[in-house]
Amino acid sequence: MNREALDDLKHQIPLMGYLQAHDWQPARPLSRGRWMGLCPLHEDHQPSFLVDPNKDLFYCYGCGRGGDVIRFAELYHQVKFSQALALLRQWRGVEPLLHEAARFYCIQLDRHAEAVAYLLQRGIHSPELIEHMRIGYAPGGCLRGWLMQLGHPLESLRRAGLVTGAGYDVYLRRIVFPLEGNLYGRSLSASAPPHRFLPGSKGGLYGWEQARQYPEVILVEGLFDYAILWQAGFHNVTCSLGTHLNARQLRQLCDGLRTVYLAFDADSNGSGQQAAQCLSRTLGERGVATRLISLPEGHDPNSFFISGGNAQDFQRLLEEACP
Ligand SMILES: [Zn+2]
Repeated sequence: MNREALDDLKHQIPLMGYLQAHDWQPARPLSRGRWMGLCPLHEDHQPSFLVDPNKDLFYCYGCGRGGDVIRFAELYHQVKFSQALALLRQWRGVEPLLHEAARFYCIQLDRHAEAVAYLLQRGIHSPELIEHMRIGYAPGGCLRGWLMQLGHPLESLRRAGLVTGAGYDVYLRRIVFPLEGNLYGRSLSASAPPHRFLPGSKGGLYGWEQARQYPEVILVEGLFDYAILWQAGFHNVTCSLGTHLNARQLRQLCDGLRTVYLAFDADSNGSGQQAAQCLSRTLGERGVATRLISLPEGHDPNSFFISGGNAQDFQRLLEEACP
Protein backbone atom coordinates (compact mmCIF):
# COMPACT_ATOMS: atom_id res chain seq x y z
CA MET A 1 0.00 0.00 0.00
CA ASN A 2 1.49 3.35 -1.00
CA ARG A 3 1.37 6.59 0.98
CA GLU A 4 -1.65 7.89 -0.93
CA ALA A 5 -3.72 4.73 -0.39
CA LEU A 6 -2.89 4.86 3.33
CA ASP A 7 -4.03 8.47 3.52
CA ASP A 8 -7.25 7.56 1.70
CA LEU A 9 -7.96 4.77 4.14
CA LYS A 10 -7.38 7.10 7.11
CA HIS A 11 -9.65 9.76 5.59
CA GLN A 12 -12.44 7.25 5.08
CA ILE A 13 -12.29 6.04 8.69
CA PRO A 14 -12.33 9.01 11.08
CA LEU A 15 -10.63 8.03 14.34
CA MET A 16 -13.47 9.31 16.54
CA GLY A 17 -16.09 7.23 14.70
CA TYR A 18 -13.91 4.14 14.88
CA LEU A 19 -13.28 4.61 18.61
CA GLN A 20 -16.96 5.14 19.38
CA ALA A 21 -17.95 2.12 17.34
CA HIS A 22 -15.62 0.21 19.66
CA ASP A 23 -17.50 1.60 22.66
CA TRP A 24 -15.05 4.33 23.59
CA GLN A 25 -16.73 7.22 25.40
CA PRO A 26 -15.52 10.79 25.34
CA ALA A 27 -15.66 11.91 29.00
CA ARG A 28 -14.47 15.51 29.03
CA PRO A 29 -14.08 18.15 26.29
CA LEU A 30 -10.80 20.04 25.97
CA SER A 31 -9.91 23.10 23.91
CA ARG A 32 -9.79 22.99 20.08
CA GLY A 33 -12.40 20.20 19.82
CA ARG A 34 -10.24 17.62 21.59
CA TRP A 35 -11.58 15.04 24.05
CA MET A 36 -10.36 13.05 27.02
CA GLY A 37 -11.68 9.62 28.01
CA LEU A 38 -10.66 6.35 29.60
CA CYS A 39 -7.89 4.58 27.71
CA PRO A 40 -9.20 1.50 25.88
CA LEU A 41 -5.64 0.14 25.64
CA HIS A 42 -4.88 -0.27 29.32
CA GLU A 43 -6.72 -0.50 32.66
CA ASP A 44 -7.62 3.13 33.19
CA HIS A 45 -9.60 4.69 36.04
CA GLN A 46 -9.06 8.35 35.33
CA PRO A 47 -9.41 9.65 31.78
CA SER A 48 -5.91 9.75 30.32
CA PHE A 49 -6.69 9.10 26.65
CA LEU A 50 -6.69 12.22 24.50
CA VAL A 51 -8.35 12.29 21.07
CA ASP A 52 -7.99 15.06 18.52
CA PRO A 53 -10.73 14.52 15.92
CA ASN A 54 -9.39 17.33 13.73
CA LYS A 55 -5.98 15.73 13.37
CA ASP A 56 -7.33 12.17 13.71
CA LEU A 57 -4.73 11.40 16.36
CA PHE A 58 -4.77 9.98 19.88
CA TYR A 59 -2.34 9.99 22.79
CA CYS A 60 -2.56 8.26 26.18
CA TYR A 61 -0.86 9.97 29.14
CA GLY A 62 -1.19 6.70 31.08
CA CYS A 63 0.47 4.15 28.82
CA GLY A 64 2.30 6.66 26.65
CA ARG A 65 1.01 5.27 23.37
CA GLY A 66 -0.41 7.32 20.53
CA GLY A 67 -0.86 7.64 16.79
CA ASP A 68 -3.49 7.44 14.06
CA VAL A 69 -6.40 5.08 13.43
CA ILE A 70 -4.09 2.41 11.98
CA ARG A 71 -1.87 2.51 15.06
CA PHE A 72 -4.98 2.30 17.24
CA ALA A 73 -6.28 -0.76 15.35
CA GLU A 74 -2.84 -2.43 15.75
CA LEU A 75 -2.81 -1.85 19.51
CA TYR A 76 -6.49 -2.47 20.15
CA HIS A 77 -6.73 -5.72 18.18
CA GLN A 78 -3.12 -6.64 19.03
CA VAL A 79 -2.16 -7.29 15.41
CA LYS A 80 0.68 -6.30 13.10
CA PHE A 81 0.52 -3.26 10.82
CA SER A 82 -0.51 -5.27 7.73
CA GLN A 83 -3.28 -7.07 9.63
CA ALA A 84 -4.52 -3.76 11.05
CA LEU A 85 -4.76 -2.45 7.48
CA ALA A 86 -6.75 -5.52 6.45
CA LEU A 87 -9.14 -5.06 9.40
CA LEU A 88 -9.68 -1.40 8.55
CA ARG A 89 -10.22 -2.10 4.86
CA GLN A 90 -12.79 -4.69 5.82
CA TRP A 91 -14.42 -2.19 8.19
CA ARG A 92 -14.61 0.40 5.43
CA GLY A 93 -16.07 -2.12 2.95
CA VAL A 94 -19.00 -3.27 5.06
CA GLU A 95 -21.02 -0.02 5.12
CA PRO A 96 -21.64 0.32 1.35
CA LEU A 97 -22.39 -3.39 1.19
CA LEU A 98 -25.05 -3.18 3.90
CA HIS A 99 -26.52 -0.15 2.21
CA GLU A 100 -26.89 -2.07 -1.07
CA ALA A 101 -28.31 -5.13 0.71
CA ALA A 102 -30.91 -2.97 2.50
CA ARG A 103 -31.88 -1.35 -0.80
CA PHE A 104 -32.34 -4.77 -2.38
CA TYR A 105 -34.52 -5.97 0.51
CA CYS A 106 -36.70 -2.84 0.26
CA ILE A 107 -37.42 -3.60 -3.38
CA GLN A 108 -38.42 -7.15 -2.46
CA LEU A 109 -40.99 -6.16 0.16
CA ASP A 110 -43.86 -5.30 -2.20
CA ARG A 111 -43.09 -8.28 -4.39
CA HIS A 112 -43.82 -10.78 -1.63
CA ALA A 113 -47.38 -11.04 -0.36
CA GLU A 114 -46.30 -13.08 2.69
CA ALA A 115 -44.07 -10.21 3.84
CA VAL A 116 -46.81 -7.58 3.53
CA ALA A 117 -49.27 -9.94 5.24
CA TYR A 118 -46.86 -10.41 8.14
CA LEU A 119 -46.46 -6.65 8.57
CA LEU A 120 -50.24 -6.24 8.61
CA GLN A 121 -50.49 -8.98 11.20
CA ARG A 122 -48.08 -6.93 13.35
CA GLY A 123 -50.25 -3.85 12.80
CA ILE A 124 -47.90 -2.14 10.34
CA HIS A 125 -49.51 -0.58 7.29
CA SER A 126 -48.35 3.02 6.92
CA PRO A 127 -46.26 3.59 3.77
CA GLU A 128 -44.70 6.57 5.55
CA LEU A 129 -43.47 4.30 8.36
CA ILE A 130 -42.16 1.65 5.96
CA GLU A 131 -40.24 4.40 4.17
CA HIS A 132 -39.04 5.95 7.45
CA MET A 133 -37.67 2.63 8.76
CA ARG A 134 -36.63 1.38 5.29
CA ILE A 135 -38.35 -1.94 6.06
CA GLY A 136 -37.47 -4.69 3.60
CA TYR A 137 -37.88 -8.38 3.02
CA ALA A 138 -35.28 -11.10 2.49
CA PRO A 139 -36.91 -13.90 0.50
CA GLY A 140 -33.58 -15.77 0.54
CA GLY A 141 -31.58 -17.08 -2.34
CA CYS A 142 -31.09 -13.97 -4.47
CA LEU A 143 -29.13 -11.32 -2.53
CA ARG A 144 -25.78 -12.89 -3.39
CA GLY A 145 -26.40 -12.72 -7.15
CA TRP A 146 -27.55 -9.10 -6.94
CA LEU A 147 -24.56 -7.91 -4.94
CA MET A 148 -22.03 -9.81 -7.03
CA GLN A 149 -23.54 -8.33 -10.17
CA LEU A 150 -22.87 -4.93 -8.61
CA GLY A 151 -19.21 -5.94 -8.30
CA HIS A 152 -18.99 -6.98 -4.64
CA PRO A 153 -16.74 -10.04 -4.33
CA LEU A 154 -18.19 -13.15 -2.66
CA GLU A 155 -15.50 -12.93 0.01
CA SER A 156 -16.79 -9.49 1.13
CA LEU A 157 -20.33 -10.87 1.40
CA ARG A 158 -19.03 -13.70 3.57
CA ARG A 159 -17.02 -11.35 5.77
CA ALA A 160 -20.04 -9.10 6.28
CA GLY A 161 -22.05 -12.16 7.34
CA LEU A 162 -24.62 -11.76 4.54
CA VAL A 163 -23.70 -15.09 2.96
CA THR A 164 -22.78 -18.40 4.62
CA GLY A 165 -19.44 -20.12 4.11
CA ALA A 166 -21.15 -22.34 1.53
CA GLY A 167 -22.38 -19.22 -0.32
CA TYR A 168 -26.08 -19.14 0.63
CA ASP A 169 -27.99 -16.04 1.74
CA VAL A 170 -28.01 -15.88 5.55
CA TYR A 171 -31.32 -13.98 5.75
CA LEU A 172 -34.11 -16.21 4.52
CA ARG A 173 -37.82 -15.32 4.83
CA ARG A 174 -37.09 -12.44 7.17
CA ILE A 175 -38.44 -8.91 7.50
CA VAL A 176 -35.31 -6.76 7.47
CA PHE A 177 -34.62 -3.46 9.23
CA PRO A 178 -31.36 -1.60 8.47
CA LEU A 179 -29.48 -0.55 11.62
CA GLU A 180 -26.30 1.44 12.10
CA GLY A 181 -23.64 -0.95 10.72
CA ASN A 182 -25.92 -3.97 10.94
CA LEU A 183 -29.20 -5.49 9.70
CA TYR A 184 -31.89 -6.96 11.93
CA GLY A 185 -33.96 -9.80 10.47
CA ARG A 186 -37.28 -11.03 11.96
CA SER A 187 -38.15 -14.52 10.80
CA LEU A 188 -41.54 -15.33 9.28
CA SER A 189 -41.04 -19.04 9.92
CA ALA A 190 -41.71 -20.43 13.37
CA SER A 191 -38.97 -23.04 12.79
CA ALA A 192 -36.13 -20.48 12.54
CA PRO A 193 -34.74 -18.36 15.42
CA PRO A 194 -36.99 -15.25 15.48
CA HIS A 195 -34.25 -12.62 15.80
CA ARG A 196 -31.10 -12.40 13.79
CA PHE A 197 -28.30 -9.83 13.51
CA LEU A 198 -25.16 -9.80 11.43
CA PRO A 199 -21.90 -10.32 13.37
CA GLY A 200 -20.75 -7.20 15.19
CA SER A 201 -22.37 -4.55 17.35
CA LYS A 202 -26.12 -3.82 17.20
CA GLY A 203 -25.11 -0.15 17.09
CA GLY A 204 -26.60 2.72 19.08
CA LEU A 205 -30.25 3.40 19.96
CA TYR A 206 -32.56 3.01 17.00
CA GLY A 207 -34.07 6.28 15.76
CA TRP A 208 -32.08 8.27 18.31
CA GLU A 209 -31.43 11.33 16.14
CA GLN A 210 -35.18 12.00 15.99
CA ALA A 211 -36.11 10.90 19.53
CA ARG A 212 -33.37 12.88 21.28
CA GLN A 213 -34.97 16.16 20.23
CA TYR A 214 -37.85 15.54 22.67
CA PRO A 215 -37.73 16.21 26.44
CA GLU A 216 -39.62 12.94 27.00
CA VAL A 217 -38.46 9.78 25.27
CA ILE A 218 -40.14 6.36 25.12
CA LEU A 219 -37.70 3.43 25.16
CA VAL A 220 -38.92 0.06 23.83
CA GLU A 221 -37.06 -3.23 23.40
CA GLY A 222 -38.22 -4.34 19.95
CA LEU A 223 -38.42 -2.78 16.49
CA PHE A 224 -42.06 -3.81 16.06
CA ASP A 225 -42.84 -1.88 19.25
CA TYR A 226 -40.96 1.08 17.84
CA ALA A 227 -42.85 0.76 14.52
CA ILE A 228 -46.34 0.67 16.01
CA LEU A 229 -45.69 3.64 18.30
CA TRP A 230 -44.11 5.72 15.55
CA GLN A 231 -47.04 4.90 13.29
CA ALA A 232 -49.45 5.99 16.05
CA GLY A 233 -47.75 9.39 16.14
CA PHE A 234 -45.27 8.88 19.01
CA HIS A 235 -42.17 10.12 17.19
CA ASN A 236 -40.29 10.44 20.49
CA VAL A 237 -39.78 6.65 20.57
CA THR A 238 -36.42 4.88 20.48
CA CYS A 239 -35.42 1.22 20.66
CA SER A 240 -32.57 -0.63 22.38
CA LEU A 241 -33.00 -3.94 20.46
CA GLY A 242 -33.23 -6.05 23.58
CA THR A 243 -33.42 -5.22 27.28
CA HIS A 244 -29.64 -5.03 27.69
CA LEU A 245 -28.24 -1.65 26.65
CA ASN A 246 -24.67 -1.42 25.41
CA ALA A 247 -22.35 1.34 26.64
CA ARG A 248 -23.04 3.53 23.63
CA GLN A 249 -26.84 3.32 24.08
CA LEU A 250 -26.56 4.22 27.77
CA ARG A 251 -24.37 7.16 26.92
CA GLN A 252 -26.93 8.35 24.37
CA LEU A 253 -29.80 8.28 26.89
CA CYS A 254 -27.65 10.32 29.27
CA ASP A 255 -26.50 12.94 26.74
CA GLY A 256 -29.04 15.57 27.81
CA LEU A 257 -31.83 16.56 30.18
CA ARG A 258 -34.81 14.31 29.58
CA THR A 259 -37.30 11.86 31.08
CA VAL A 260 -37.14 8.30 29.76
CA TYR A 261 -40.36 6.24 29.73
CA LEU A 262 -39.49 2.56 29.78
CA ALA A 263 -41.98 0.41 27.87
CA PHE A 264 -40.41 -3.05 28.01
CA ASP A 265 -42.49 -6.20 27.56
CA ALA A 266 -44.82 -7.17 30.41
CA ASP A 267 -43.72 -10.84 30.20
CA SER A 268 -45.61 -13.17 32.51
CA ASN A 269 -42.28 -14.20 34.13
CA GLY A 270 -41.51 -10.55 34.92
CA SER A 271 -38.17 -10.48 33.09
CA GLY A 272 -39.01 -7.36 31.05
CA GLN A 273 -40.11 -5.47 34.17
CA GLN A 274 -37.03 -6.58 36.09
CA ALA A 275 -34.83 -5.33 33.27
CA ALA A 276 -36.74 -2.03 33.24
CA GLN A 277 -36.29 -1.56 36.99
CA CYS A 278 -32.60 -2.34 36.75
CA LEU A 279 -32.15 0.12 33.89
CA SER A 280 -34.18 2.72 35.76
CA ARG A 281 -31.71 2.49 38.68
CA THR A 282 -28.70 2.76 36.37
CA LEU A 283 -30.15 5.83 34.65
CA GLY A 284 -31.13 7.34 38.00
CA GLU A 285 -27.52 7.07 39.19
CA ARG A 286 -26.52 9.05 36.13
CA GLY A 287 -29.10 11.75 36.79
CA VAL A 288 -31.69 10.72 34.18
CA ALA A 289 -35.34 10.67 35.30
CA THR A 290 -37.32 7.55 34.36
CA ARG A 291 -40.94 6.36 34.44
CA LEU A 292 -42.02 2.73 34.18
CA ILE A 293 -44.94 2.09 31.85
CA SER A 294 -47.18 -0.69 33.04
CA LEU A 295 -48.65 -2.63 30.13
CA PRO A 296 -51.33 -5.29 30.69
CA GLU A 297 -49.69 -8.63 31.57
CA GLY A 298 -48.44 -10.61 28.60
CA HIS A 299 -48.32 -7.55 26.34
CA ASP A 300 -45.65 -5.50 24.65
CA PRO A 301 -46.42 -2.13 23.01
CA ASN A 302 -46.94 -3.87 19.66
CA SER A 303 -49.50 -6.37 20.94
CA PHE A 304 -51.16 -3.63 23.01
CA PHE A 305 -52.10 -1.84 19.80
CA ILE A 306 -52.91 -5.00 17.84
CA SER A 307 -55.35 -6.12 20.50
CA GLY A 308 -57.32 -2.90 20.18
CA GLY A 309 -55.36 -0.24 22.08
CA ASN A 310 -55.10 3.15 20.37
CA ALA A 311 -52.96 6.26 20.77
CA GLN A 312 -55.24 7.71 23.49
CA ASP A 313 -55.02 4.47 25.49
CA PHE A 314 -51.24 4.48 25.25
CA GLN A 315 -51.12 8.16 26.16
CA ARG A 316 -53.05 7.26 29.32
CA LEU A 317 -50.39 4.61 30.15
CA LEU A 318 -47.72 7.30 29.77
CA GLU A 319 -49.60 9.60 32.14
CA GLU A 320 -50.05 6.80 34.68
CA ALA A 321 -46.40 5.67 34.49
CA CYS A 322 -44.64 5.50 37.87
CA PRO A 323 -41.27 7.05 38.69
ZN1 LIG B 1 -3.38 4.04 27.86
